[in-house]
Amino acid sequence: MQTALADFVRDTPQGREANEILRSCVHCGFCLPACPTYQLLGDELDSPRGRIYLMKQLLEGEPVTARTQLHLDRCLTCRACESACPSGVRYGRLLDIGRALTEERVPRPPGARALRYLLHKIVPWPGRARALLALARAARGLLPAALRARVPAAAVPRPALLQGRAPRWPAARHARRVVLLEGCVQGALAADINPATAQLLDCIGISAVRAAGCGCCGMLDHHLSEHAAALAAARRNVDALWRHVEAGAEAIVLTASACASMVADYGHLLRADPAYAARAARISALTRDISQLLAAETNGLEAALQARAGAAPPARVAFHAPCSLQHALQVRGVVESILTGAGFTLTAVSDGQRCCGSAGTYSILQPQLSAELLRSKVQALEADRPELIATANIGCLAHLRSGTALPVCHWVELIAARLADG
Ligand code: SF4
Ligand code: SF4
Repeated sequence: MQTALADFVRDTPQGREANEILRSCVHCGFCLPACPTYQLLGDELDSPRGRIYLMKQLLEGEPVTARTQLHLDRCLTCRACESACPSGVRYGRLLDIGRALTEERVPRPPGARALRYLLHKIVPWPGRARALLALARAARGLLPAALRARVPAAAVPRPALLQGRAPRWPAARHARRVVLLEGCVQGALAADINPATAQLLDCIGISAVRAAGCGCCGMLDHHLSEHAAALAAARRNVDALWRHVEAGAEAIVLTASACASMVADYGHLLRADPAYAARAARISALTRDISQLLAAETNGLEAALQARAGAAPPARVAFHAPCSLQHALQVRGVVESILTGAGFTLTAVSDGQRCCGSAGTYSILQPQLSAELLRSKVQALEADRPELIATANIGCLAHLRSGTALPVCHWVELIAARLADG
């Protein structure tokens, strides 16, 4: 694609990066069928190629309007278009740049500004998120139906295999150590996932230590185009994680694939900061979603599972692969083979590359599109009659729970439960 970037951006780092990305797009349109918003709305401006044109116009200095902002807002940042693109266009990075520039030029109405401000001030902070959740649950009956559906229930159905379990974080006893970054909202919504992961790792000879001093990975602020806040979170976490790296942690492990993709990006996000660039790059290189870590530990995992063979009845599981896992981290088929290796039967799920509509704050900021995507995702997951749904990211997990009566859990809880049954 030919470009002629405007003076205001041409010689900036963002301008140079955006220019390179724009030039890599050859307009072929192979990304269109992969795009959930194009599938739903049928408008080229709600497709990757259409949004790339809109961002090109913005970067070339043409007027940018609320309509541009609307089409960029409707993007889920699912990055399915990147998986489908034969030219390797880094659409997600271009969108970050395009959204930030649009945000500077198009003022939002007061209500939308207030909502985004509240999300930015509350969701990434565990104490505030817990307080808001408790308040919303208490006031559930008074909320409008659309908002009520967004409040996670306090008691959720648990898969039979997990009932009566309360995993405990084991004491560190192995020479091999990893640091487990626990995240922000996950503790409030599904507190068992990280202790179950620590137990699982303990069974295969790896101790997981808590990432003291860390907080939200910055992804939620990143989604809201609050880039300064996202970078501040990244710097705080690099400082805290670096102490663990120096103490010998061999990897930084996350159980939320969206957060893993964010931390894996710290090296890129902080590359221009001389005080952080080298450490951030090292942190990113050491970052693993739990599926990536276990994929490299198949011998230990198989041996541990064999020692407990037949301990629990295998279940029929529908696995939802989060976009952050399959498109951002490019991890495909790994969780599925770990689950089948542990005796679970995977049910057929059509359109498995399609987003569930959770997408960070998308379910709150774009409720109608999000609800439509949730409906079709739940339909696809339930079609082959699973006993439960498993996924790999807390946002997807909470979102799916709001759309199905089936139990929804993190897949790692199922493996940990199989191992604990020995
Ligand atoms: S598939 Fe890639 S190169 Fe083709 S239009 Fe989409 S982004 Fe551009
Ligand atoms: S990130 Fe997802 S929603 Fe956005 S343009 Fe790409 S495929 Fe479409």
